[in-house]
Amino acid sequence: MDDRLLHDFAEIASDWFWETDAQHRFTFFSNRISEVIGVPAEFFLGKSRMELLKGSDDQNSWAEHFADLEARRPFRDFTYQAKRPIDNSAFWIRTSGEPVFSKAGNFLGYRGTGLDVTVEVLARAQLEKSNIELKKRNAELLKAKSTIERMAYEDPLTGLKNRRFIEEEFARLVQRNGPSFSVLHSDLDRFKQINDTLGHAAGDQVLRVVANRLLACFPPPATIGRIGGDEFVILIGSSDPILLKEQADAAIRDISQTIVLDETSVEIGTSFGIACKEGTDESLHQLLSRADLALYEAKALGRNRAQLFTPELHNRLIKEKALANDLQNGVKNDEFEVWYQPQINARSGALSGVEALMRWNSPSRGLVLPEHFMSKAESLGIMPEIDGSILRKSLAFVTQLAKGGSILPRLSINVSFDRLTEGHIVEEVQALWKDRSTQLSFELVETVTFDGTMSAIIKHNLDRLRDIGVSLEVDDFGTGHASITALLQVEPDSLKIDRSLVASVLVDLKCRRLVTHVIAMAEAMNVRVIAEGVETRKQAQCLAELGCQTLQGFYFAPPMPAEDFATYVKNRQDLGLATTIA
Ligand code: C2E
Ligand code: CA
Ligand code: CA
Repeated sequence: MDDRLLHDFAEIASDWFWETDAQHRFTFFSNRISEVIGVPAEFFLGKSRMELLKGSDDQNSWAEHFADLEARRPFRDFTYQAKRPIDNSAFWIRTSGEPVFSKAGNFLGYRGTGLDVTVEVLARAQLEKSNIELKKRNAELLKAKSTIERMAYEDPLTGLKNRRFIEEEFARLVQRNGPSFSVLHSDLDRFKQINDTLGHAAGDQVLRVVANRLLACFPPPATIGRIGGDEFVILIGSSDPILLKEQADAAIRDISQTIVLDETSVEIGTSFGIACKEGTDESLHQLLSRADLALYEAKALGRNRAQLFTPELHNRLIKEKALANDLQNGVKNDEFEVWYQPQINARSGALSGVEALMRWNSPSRGLVLPEHFMSKAESLGIMPEIDGSILRKSLAFVTQLAKGGSILPRLSINVSFDRLTEGHIVEEVQALWKDRSTQLSFELVETVTFDGTMSAIIKHNLDRLRDIGVSLEVDDFGTGHASITALLQVEPDSLKIDRSLVASVLVDLKCRRLVTHVIAMAEAMNVRVIAEGVETRKQAQCLAELGCQTLQGFYFAPPMPAEDFATYVKNRQDLGLATTIA
């Protein structure tokens, strides 16, 4: 190369030139190097690159470089870290070189260029660092995202899925399984009791154990969610009712195993309602409410059982729901009326009283007998109100009869258990029972003392009712084992021999003896005896002979609406009628 040209170029280029001899010792540097490194070019002359830049940062690239030199190969863009001799500060050089040979082919050394690439290397290092950090941050973000997602779909207490996940999973199942899957709804029996008595921490522990047991009983791909305090939903990709019921029964057995808590152990029951998807258009909401109905039924049937939803169950429950609605409206619209059945003095045949019997005059159902609505009304808690209206109406009727000249010796009213627990019943009776020429009598069902002990409020009410002159009767005597207890606790004025005993009194000797004993016992306790359900003259005669004071039944007269009963009373009076018994 032309020396002058080389010199000029070297002065303006940012690169510098170098040359080495066959031992790789520098023999030449352009001046540019001294600007970069801060020492005169001469400093380097006679020294090798390796010698100058010992303690390098990158063994591998040096090894490669040495291999190039050994083989007398050209090298390109070899980048390495060096230290400034003055202050030991690091900088980066990128260098390229090629071997020089004599005409005879002898290796003379290398020559090439060098360049300070510190800025570039540092920038790249920075970039790499940022990239690594970015990747780390991304990983963290991904983790956070999945945690958030998990939290959004998970019940934190049990680790089961939550309602939201169940909803989305349902949609996925509809896509994947079409109609072939089912929804199970379960809740724990008496879980509230555990929470109340052992505390919420124990309750939580129970829920976690139950969750694990459910997971073991319904392994994936079934999905289990907790959708309320102690309510669980299971989505299963099967619609085989028999298998589902078996699986649920097994789960009930597992869950009812003793749960050992920190300080105590508990046993808990569970019930399942099962609804299989039948078509393609049912929503989760529909299926859940079917499973719900089945669950309700399972509990009504005695808990700890699995119940399948069926159309029959649906219809029955719909009917019950309609009955409940109608009944509630019936109370609101005062649709209950009173029918009256006479009671006859067994000796004289005279009218000795009347039993008030409720009838529901429903606008849509017509006249409904108590047996068709009473248990529903009881479960709805509306019996006290109905009993109240019967008391009001029958007392008004009796007063009206008296005004017309027919004074009834006694009015007997049926009183339900709930009614007797009302705080204001005594005041109510006092306010309504004005005309004391008719004796008022309350017929009590034996559930009043069913568990053998009477509740304090009932005892209090009965005592005060007796205080204000109401007679007490034990109804349906002889049908249940609590009868005697009722007799001892209520201390009634009379007892009513149940019509099932009356029906057998003629044909069953044992029954006849029983009735005899009942009457004897009643006499000893100074309790009057009424026989109900007397259907024949023979029955009436027999019961009269055995010592019943009062008789009631179809043989004398059926229950009648108020008007008919008024006519009945009037006719008897006009004709001076007494029913012949003997
Ligand atoms: P109960 O107190 O034993 O009433 C007697 C039932 O026997 C009445 O049925 C009556 O119609 C029926 N009966 C009367 N004579 C005969 C007979 O000779 N043979 C037969 N087989 N049955 C006869 P009802 O009116 O359907 O009442 C059924 C039950 O409903 C009553 O049984 C009573 O427990 C309850 N009940 C009726 N009215 C009321 C009420 O106002 N309040 C409450 N809480 N319960 C009532
Ligand atoms: Ca009765
Ligand atoms: Ca009865």
